[in-house]
Amino acid sequence: MQHTSYIEISRSAFKKNIDFIRKDIGAATSLSLVVKGNAYGHGVENIVPMAEENGMRHFSTFSADEALRVFHASKMGSEIMIMGMLMNEDLGELIQKGINFYVFDFDRLEAAVAVAKTMGKKAKIHVEVETGFHRTGFEWEEREWLINQLKEHAPFLELKGLCTHYAGAESIANYVRVRNQIKQFKQFKKSFDSQNITFEKYHTACSAAALLYPETKMDMVRIGIAAYGFWPTQETYMYRFQSLPDNDKNPLKRLITWKSSIMNTKSVKMGEFIGYGSSYMAPRDMTIALVPIGYGHGYSRLLSNQGKVLISGVIVPVVGTVTMNSIAVDVTDLEKVQKGDEAVIIGCQGGKELSVASFGESSQQVNYELLTRLPQDIPRFVVD
Ligand SMILES: *Cc1c(COP(=O)(O)O)cnc(C)c1O
Repeated sequence: MQHTSYIEISRSAFKKNIDFIRKDIGAATSLSLVVKGNAYGHGVENIVPMAEENGMRHFSTFSADEALRVFHASKMGSEIMIMGMLMNEDLGELIQKGINFYVFDFDRLEAAVAVAKTMGKKAKIHVEVETGFHRTGFEWEEREWLINQLKEHAPFLELKGLCTHYAGAESIANYVRVRNQIKQFKQFKKSFDSQNITFEKYHTACSAAALLYPETKMDMVRIGIAAYGFWPTQETYMYRFQSLPDNDKNPLKRLITWKSSIMNTKSVKMGEFIGYGSSYMAPRDMTIALVPIGYGHGYSRLLSNQGKVLISGVIVPVVGTVTMNSIAVDVTDLEKVQKGDEAVIIGCQGGKELSVASFGESSQQVNYELLTRLPQDIPRFVVD
């Protein structure tokens, strides 16, 4: 059975992004690929093996369920790190499988120690510290208690990392806040050092931090959006533009292409309304084409009368409201449009391109949001 749309993932674009990132971060820093949110909508099962083909051996997820998906998708026994949610009752399986996880409160630390003790296997932990993001992380005031705990339970803990996360490194508006976070992280490190507690890796940087604040790179960076071919923000790109070589001003390439096809065409007389309600009245006799993707597929309702689709190499506008399963587009000026013709929602056709960012401009969605809202059940194919 055919689905109403499908997604292509470009292997060569991914390789190009990874090559650029590796070169940019330098040989001393290792790379963890962030694959939360179904690998930013690209599909964990597509991305993990492709990343491993490119030499990657470290993956970061938000939650335990995502980590297990990576575990099964991995063919190389790569390291997996959970940066967010897990239930204490899952600790046994996670420790058994050698999956790394963040620890940011005493409850999880205690539970991990207890489980590791009964299993006779060390828990691989990354201690997250609060530096100013104010979501998760041990507070500065908690450090003595924490240090005592880490010492006392040392036989059951493998200290894989000390880490934090920046509150908006992608915007210069947060410059002072990020600078203070860097400073605070160094204070934490110093404090642990003075007690002879060392971690295998110190890691703080996401894509934006790695691209804009070189000193945040440390031993490892956790890269998501850039690996999928997007600058975290336009601002990030502008900041780096000068430093990019003349022959490669556009080193990050989109992997994803989203395609559907025309389900039906219809003539509409001038003055008639198209679709639900009265948001669009035909200003002339028109031909419209129905494309079977809607807000149920992650195509935001905010794109009503705003979105664009590529048909026959021409960018055509959405007319009327986005419905759950379909949109209508204006194809009046196209020749020979018919049922079954390809409709590109994201990607290239006939020398024209619809980027992911163009959605953001019309629907206020950031790249991250649009990508991760692409439903998991849309078929995805890796292409060269
Ligand atoms: C999502 C996330 C990242 C990756 O962020 P990008 O901007 O996609 O590179 C890194 N670290 C943590 C803790 C995250 O949650």
